[in-house]
Amino acid sequence: MAHDTSDALHRRGLLFILSSPSGAGKTTISRMLLTADDEIRLSVSATTRPRRPGEVEGVDYHFVSDEAFDAMVEKDDFYEWAEVFGNRYGTPKGYIRKRLKEGDDFLFDIDWQGTQQLYQKDQQDVVSVFILPPTLDELRRRLESRATDSEDVIDRRMDRARGEISHWAEYDYVVVNDDVDECFVKVREILHAERMKRTRQTGLIPFVRGLMD
Ligand code: 5GP
Repeated sequence: MAHDTSDALHRRGLLFILSSPSGAGKTTISRMLLTADDEIRLSVSATTRPRRPGEVEGVDYHFVSDEAFDAMVEKDDFYEWAEVFGNRYGTPKGYIRKRLKEGDDFLFDIDWQGTQQLYQKDQQDVVSVFILPPTLDELRRRLESRATDSEDVIDRRMDRARGEISHWAEYDYVVVNDDVDECFVKVREILHAERMKRTRQTGLIPFVRGLMD
C-alpha cells in the first residue's frame, strides 16, 4: 500500500546564506548548488549598483534606482538591506516569505551585515556558511589572475577582503575553498544535513507522537 508522506515530510524552508570575500569562489559554488539541487532557489536581491556586462535583470539582481530603493525601504519591503562598497543591496520580502512557508529553501548571496539582520529576524531557519580562501596570498593570486583590475583596485579588494574575513566567527560553518569541487561537496553536505534537523521536521510530530503515548 502506498503511504501518503506529504504531511510527514513537510518542513519549513531554509534560509541558506553563503558569504565570502570576492575571489573566494562563492559565485561558482552558488551556481553549482543551484544547478545540482532542485529544492533550492536563489533569492534575487535588489541593488542600486549598475548592471555589469553579462548580468541579467531579475536573474542576477533587480537593478533599481536610488529613488526606487528608498521607496522600498520606506514601505518596509526588505527582509534586510545594507550598504556594501558604496552601493545598496537588499532582500525583498514578499515572494520569499510565502515560499519559505511552503517549504522552499532559498540561497542568499549576501554580506555579513545582511547575515546578522536575517539572524535577528529568523533564528531558527537561517543557516550560514562562510567560504574562506586557503590563504590571503592565494586570494591575491586569484584576483590578479582575473587580469581585469589594476594593482590599485586589487589592493582595495584585498583590504575589503580582510574586513569581510574578520566576520568569519559569526557564521555557523566555515569552508576553505582549496579546490572548488571539494568545496562544493562540503557546502552541499551542510545543506543536506541541515534539512534533516529534527527541529525542522515539525511535520513528523503527529506521526511520532503516536509512538510516544
Ligand atoms: P556584487 O556587487 O559583487 O554583486 O556584490 C557585492 C557584495 O554585496 C557581495 O558581498 C554580496 O554578497 C553582497 N550582497 C548582494 N546582495 C545583497 C543583499 O541583498 N543584501 C546584502 N546585505 N548584501 C548583498
